[in-house]
Amino acid sequence: MLFDVARLRDDFPLLQQGPGRAPIAYLDNAATTLKPLPVIEAVRGYLADYSGNVHRGQHALADRATEAYEGSRRSVARFLGARASEVVFVRGTTEAIGLVAGGLGLQAGDNVVVSVLEHHSNLLPWRARCGVRVVPLAASGLPDLAAAEAAIDARTRLVAITACSNVTGVYVSVRAWAELAHRKGVPLLVDAAQLAAHRGIDVQGLQCDYLALSGHKLFAPPGVGVLYGTQAALERLEPVQLGGGCVKHVGLDLDYELRELPWRLEAGTPDIAAAIGLGAAVEYLEDLGLDAIEHHEDGLRELLDAEVASLPGLRNHSPSPARAPMLTVTAEDGALGSEVVARVLSDSYGVMVRAGHHCAHPLHAALGLPATLRASLAFYNTEDDVLRLRDGLRALLRRGAG
Ligand code: PMP
Repeated sequence: MLFDVARLRDDFPLLQQGPGRAPIAYLDNAATTLKPLPVIEAVRGYLADYSGNVHRGQHALADRATEAYEGSRRSVARFLGARASEVVFVRGTTEAIGLVAGGLGLQAGDNVVVSVLEHHSNLLPWRARCGVRVVPLAASGLPDLAAAEAAIDARTRLVAITACSNVTGVYVSVRAWAELAHRKGVPLLVDAAQLAAHRGIDVQGLQCDYLALSGHKLFAPPGVGVLYGTQAALERLEPVQLGGGCVKHVGLDLDYELRELPWRLEAGTPDIAAAIGLGAAVEYLEDLGLDAIEHHEDGLRELLDAEVASLPGLRNHSPSPARAPMLTVTAEDGALGSEVVARVLSDSYGVMVRAGHHCAHPLHAALGLPATLRASLAFYNTEDDVLRLRDGLRALLRRGAG
């Protein structure tokens, strides 16, 4: 199928131009993505037509809401190559990781092995509960597997690794990490927040025990995400939250019996609208085809690299071709990562990027980097978006970026 970007941009209201609306070059997709009409319509449909609660009612609206919510879970499961019972709806990646961190019963003497590439959300939940062994980067720019092997010991309860850095965009070979962790008898958690929008995910192929992602980075509304886990891995978790929806029965003395998976880990009313939106989002992506998305994005990434390389005075900190379509740069005087630069790019050029440390302070410290400027693309971006970024950066560099 031909990947017709011009046509599919029509699906995104925020990419439409009109009276009083200048065209935007939205290059902040690693922060959050834009939403297509089928997602917006799915959310609107729930809110307008059948906004009952799930799993609690005995009437038509509750039935419809439950069917849509569980239908969305089946779509997400298919998208990940998982079973529906292995898909827990949460608020996002942070909550998914928090559920594992809180549910494993970690003790102060335990440790979790992570890499220095991680987002704060895959560092601090462990740090709050047990020892954390932070694996450095090897010369390749990827987390050092040999160092990870040396770090794992008898008290290691989990290895937790990102599949794709939200700063450099580099892809980590999750399969190699799974093989190492499993050889040592330790489960593996994968942070797929940045992977999901760019590469098809097959949890069987990745061989991970847990995988976390955020709906809002996958063209769905904020408020929903996924914790995938194998049945054994999810059964190992004590629920972090208890309340309605997760129990079969509560006695007068408050003894209780938990429901089966995945509902035992979903106490309280979930963000039903957002979950229904996530189902629509993954169906939209399946229709487009992940292979076609990958092909289009790889072309944009090459153009991005070439155009940025043509600007003297910029340093690209994402040189690897095996990465998501994003790029993180500093100016030689270091000033490009300032918030002012991102604001000028937005206000004067309509180019939306992110400046700062991207919730990855340890990585910036390890690389000796000041705040950086990150441009991150999605499948609806065009060559024109990349050229507008180049032109904005060129003008700022001429003016002296700071
Ligand atoms: N991990 C990575 C790699 C991320 O990029 C992000 C979001 N920037 C998160 C975790 C946290 O995601 P959320 O804020 O949606 O929970």
